Amino acid sequence: MQRDEQIFELIQAEKERQLHGIELIASENFVSPQVMEAAGSVLTNKYAEGYPGKRYYGGCEVVDEVEQIAIDRAKALFGAAYVNVQPHSGSQANTAVYHACLNPGDKILGFDLSHGGHLTHGSPVNFSGKLYNPVFYGVEEETGVLNYDKIQEIATKEQPKLIIAGASAYSRDIDFKRFRVIADSVGAILMADISHPAGLIAKGILNDPLPHCHIVTTTTHKTLRGPRGGMIMMGEDFENPFGIKLKNGNLRKMSSLLDSAVFPGNQGGPLEHIIAAKAIAFGEALTDEFLAYQLQVKKNASAMANALVSKGYKIISNGTDNHCMLIDLRNKNLSGKDAEQALVKADITVNKNMVPFDDKSPFVTSGIRLGAAAITTRGLNETEIIAVVELVDEVINNFEDEAVLANVKNKVNALMQNRPLFV
Ligand code: PLP
Repeated sequence: MQRDEQIFELIQAEKERQLHGIELIASENFVSPQVMEAAGSVLTNKYAEGYPGKRYYGGCEVVDEVEQIAIDRAKALFGAAYVNVQPHSGSQANTAVYHACLNPGDKILGFDLSHGGHLTHGSPVNFSGKLYNPVFYGVEEETGVLNYDKIQEIATKEQPKLIIAGASAYSRDIDFKRFRVIADSVGAILMADISHPAGLIAKGILNDPLPHCHIVTTTTHKTLRGPRGGMIMMGEDFENPFGIKLKNGNLRKMSSLLDSAVFPGNQGGPLEHIIAAKAIAFGEALTDEFLAYQLQVKKNASAMANALVSKGYKIISNGTDNHCMLIDLRNKNLSGKDAEQALVKADITVNKNMVPFDDKSPFVTSGIRLGAAAITTRGLNETEIIAVVELVDEVINNFEDEAVLANVKNKVNALMQNRPLFV
């Protein structure tokens, strides 16, 4: 068969874009060559509906071993008693948890999307806001941080069945212990979605949700630096509180409800090539090298935030505890959209983002979100990050000046020259 040059040329073009540019999208990262190799392996050919040892297809002996290794490594990495590595994405992981714990129309309490939450935490444009009955908590206007007393008040008033702790654009550590007190006070299930800070949490740099939250979901491709995908975990298994029984009259364990919610509840065959890549990424994450990487991510993000603040940028909550930060550009007289577009012209990639109490639409926005996970994988340290902030600032201050943007692009390309994607 003829090689599909049209697509391979585009893949090469994307590789060049990634190599030459500065990647500051907080949800992105660069995987290791061995993660990439597994993701492009023959395992993509295999159907394996079911779970290791209990499949609906023959020939699963090898993928059974792969999936079990992925599960065991994830358990070791997070100190989890239960792990499901099959969700195709973070959204699928959250869908499965809701499917296991809720009925349509049940009330959920999540982090407001415009304050830093995720679409799947109850947004009206997402299934989570259409199928369930969402109510929200957000950050304080003056401080940009969560106020746990207010979350308690909302929970007491609204009596949600499920509370979601976690965000896509929140730069502060989350108090999962306090969230559990709130959840227990109203008899709610507490789910943490650690998609963004999972790598930092795995290495003990941020609060651990596993001892406090009933269920924890994550993506595997952000700070965790694995292939695109999702995962569900529990610190300990427990009997479901919904009265769902086995034939023998015993209550079904939550692990069994979650497994059924993933397959057959909401997915068919698992992506065993991606599960193999997850297993490799978890193996990498278990090393001391990964701890050094996460510590550098935190240092780089903190250096980036400090440098931005010293240049007059307003960072929501005034800094960061993790890998990311949200910048309110309203004092800079350009929208998030303008900033994103100008930065792309200079080969710097960020995403426009709503800021809390934003007066612009989600397509325009007043802010941008930055993260240090990807740029740290490329080997930049906290000194070089200052140079990155200089370049971002030059673009933002001259966002309509094509000559300046072209000049910054040259500087960006020079800075990233001879740096592989994964150092
Ligand atoms: N949850 C959070 C907090 C996220 O930030 C994201 C992705 O950005 C997701 C879930 C969804 O992940 P995916 O894009 O893999 O569906």
